Amino acid sequence: MDGIARPEDPLLTEAQFLKGVGPKLAMLLRKLGIVTVRDVLEHYPRRYEDRTQLPPLMTVRPGQACSVRGRLKKLDTRSTRGGKVIIKAVLADDTGEIDLIWFNQPWVARELKKVEGDVVAFGMVKEGEGWRLQMTAPEWEALDEDDDAGDFARVTPVYALTDGVGQWVIRRAAAAAVDYFSGQARDPFPEEFRRQHRLQRLGWCYRHMHQPENLATQATARRRLAFEEFLYLQLGLQMRRAEVQQELGISFPISQIQGDTGLGGTLFGAEVGAAEGGLWDQVHRMLPFDLTGAQRRVIGEIWRDMERPYPMNRLVQGDVGSGKTAVAACAMLAAVRCGYQAALMAPTEILAEQHALNLKRLFAPLGIEVALMVGKLGAKAKRRALEQAASGEAPICVGTHALISEGVTFHKLGFAVIDEQHRFGVVQRLALRQKGMNPDVLVMTATPIPRTLTMSLYGDLDLSVIDELPPGRKPIKTHWRKPDQRNKVYQVVRDLVKEGRQAYFVCPMITESDKMQTQAAEDLHYRLSTHEYPDLRVGLLHGQMKGPEKEEVMTKFRAHELDILVSTVVIEVGVDVPNATVMVIEDANRFGLAQLHQLRGRVGRGGHQSFCILVASATNPESEQRLRIMEETTDGFRIAEEDLKIRGPGDVAGTRQSGQLTFKLANLVDDGPLLEETRMAAMEILRADPQLSRPEHALLLERLREQRSQDALIVVS
Ligand code: ADP
Ligand code: MG
Repeated sequence: MDGIARPEDPLLTEAQFLKGVGPKLAMLLRKLGIVTVRDVLEHYPRRYEDRTQLPPLMTVRPGQACSVRGRLKKLDTRSTRGGKVIIKAVLADDTGEIDLIWFNQPWVARELKKVEGDVVAFGMVKEGEGWRLQMTAPEWEALDEDDDAGDFARVTPVYALTDGVGQWVIRRAAAAAVDYFSGQARDPFPEEFRRQHRLQRLGWCYRHMHQPENLATQATARRRLAFEEFLYLQLGLQMRRAEVQQELGISFPISQIQGDTGLGGTLFGAEVGAAEGGLWDQVHRMLPFDLTGAQRRVIGEIWRDMERPYPMNRLVQGDVGSGKTAVAACAMLAAVRCGYQAALMAPTEILAEQHALNLKRLFAPLGIEVALMVGKLGAKAKRRALEQAASGEAPICVGTHALISEGVTFHKLGFAVIDEQHRFGVVQRLALRQKGMNPDVLVMTATPIPRTLTMSLYGDLDLSVIDELPPGRKPIKTHWRKPDQRNKVYQVVRDLVKEGRQAYFVCPMITESDKMQTQAAEDLHYRLSTHEYPDLRVGLLHGQMKGPEKEEVMTKFRAHELDILVSTVVIEVGVDVPNATVMVIEDANRFGLAQLHQLRGRVGRGGHQSFCILVASATNPESEQRLRIMEETTDGFRIAEEDLKIRGPGDVAGTRQSGQLTFKLANLVDDGPLLEETRMAAMEILRADPQLSRPEHALLLERLREQRSQDALIVVS
């Protein structure tokens, strides 16, 4: 024992011990989160410059980034009147010349003077004085006589930097790490597995990320490392899912109370047309419309899941207006009829109130009480709601986060619906779970998520998709109008209101600040109610209003006591007023695609033709593209795909807070096939070794644990 705790893994050696690094540089590297040698190796280049080609100067053209090789013909240093130093060197080969220019770097001149042989310079070629080729502040290197363009003429990594850390610092650290340590990297993948999936050794990959022979070896290295990132995600999700299926949950005796399945056959082995008042019968009595085929299928999937003895964890995905509320109501009905309480949690008070209203209306004829629990209830109403939940007097409780706050107890909570889950974290889901006896959880989301993301974000959930809209819906017509056409837009709205319809005006999101948005909404409300529509009933809704005030406005709008509702984005999610058939979105270019789609989903909910008018001047090609896509399609999935392409996965709604999607290399947009491959690979691994307990998987398990503890941190913070 030498008294020093040596990490078992050589790659956990501190970066400061790398040749050429030392304590000072190590301090700087820490700013980039780099502490160990492994951190250095996994600080992958942001991009590469292919310097393997050394074109003859004659063939070099302005606008090209390249390496050139030649001899220095002339070196000229002069000072400007302003006291600046300009260095100009002329580099020549047998075919032509190029000027190399540096500003205010006198040491470059000193270095250049020492050069005897060839020089290689890398940079962007521009057109200089007298049509001469020119490079400004190129990276350069002098070659020895016998040097074959040396280090410089190859694929050179370019790293992400922080203040005070230059490219050369990271390059030096990376080179040392690769030279001394990459050979010692312990590979979490067994050899057989690597062979099967055509993956190179870990050490080889580190080397070829930092010092690729060419772009092809770099791509091979990247593929393996991205594969590994995806694999941890998939292993984590699949293991979590397996864990949940081990837990004991509630087995709702649905088939015993089940009547006509409505599916023209038997469900759960129950006799068709059994007991009067069977579940489907009650569903038909409860809903004022016939379910769509998709709704019926999804309800069947949920009920079947509820019968199983392990806790359900199911995601229902359906575009805005596809009728998720009815599906949730049917699921809750089943829970209640099996003798349990059901809770529905919504992201905002308005939504919770609206759900409570809808559900009360649906469940009243069946004699099922619905309690509402939101933060801003008066003391008395609150006490009453708490009692109803605790005694079981209210079989159904609807609320916001208030539902999972301390002090709320349930008599016998067996089923929980979480609406618009992207607003909730994993933590809240757990808290709700803990309120009951490991209740079944149904998560509903209208945020269309591209399939690749669904799989990676919610791989631990079962998925049901409502892929059909209720019949008779006319697709919303969307038009993009420039601000100077506003008067025409106002006229269109007036005409529709005259026909008896209602309208939303959504005002721009100027800042993140609630106050500013409120101000904008108040301004627009003032303008519309006094100048444009003094004869119409114009209401206002914004985030700074108190709960009861908001509810009052919404109630009035629902009851058609208002013609026009001016609002901030608070109506984004879930609000349902079928007679509202036109939405004007001001400064629509300030919204993202997903948000525009959500907003637009507030219209087109009844039998009348609906319109969405985007008022905006395109400020850049990207915003123009967004507006065009909105005009073109109402398909949420297509919009989600486009959104993903434009913005990348980091920003797509719901993914930001998940923390699971922070990859160093892997990319959900471009690596879809790889993601699928890793999903299969993870399944294979777990089929043979469900706990990863075999010795050959020890390192894999270790890395996976590291990853998952990081996930957890991100989710909680
Ligand atoms: P979302 O999926 O956006 O939450 P909702 O559940 O709010 O959709 O339903 C949208 C509207 O469609 C509501 O007015 C609802 O009453 C109505 N609806 C739902 N299902 C059907 C159906 N099968 N037939 C007719 N209307 C339906
Ligand atoms: Mg909804």
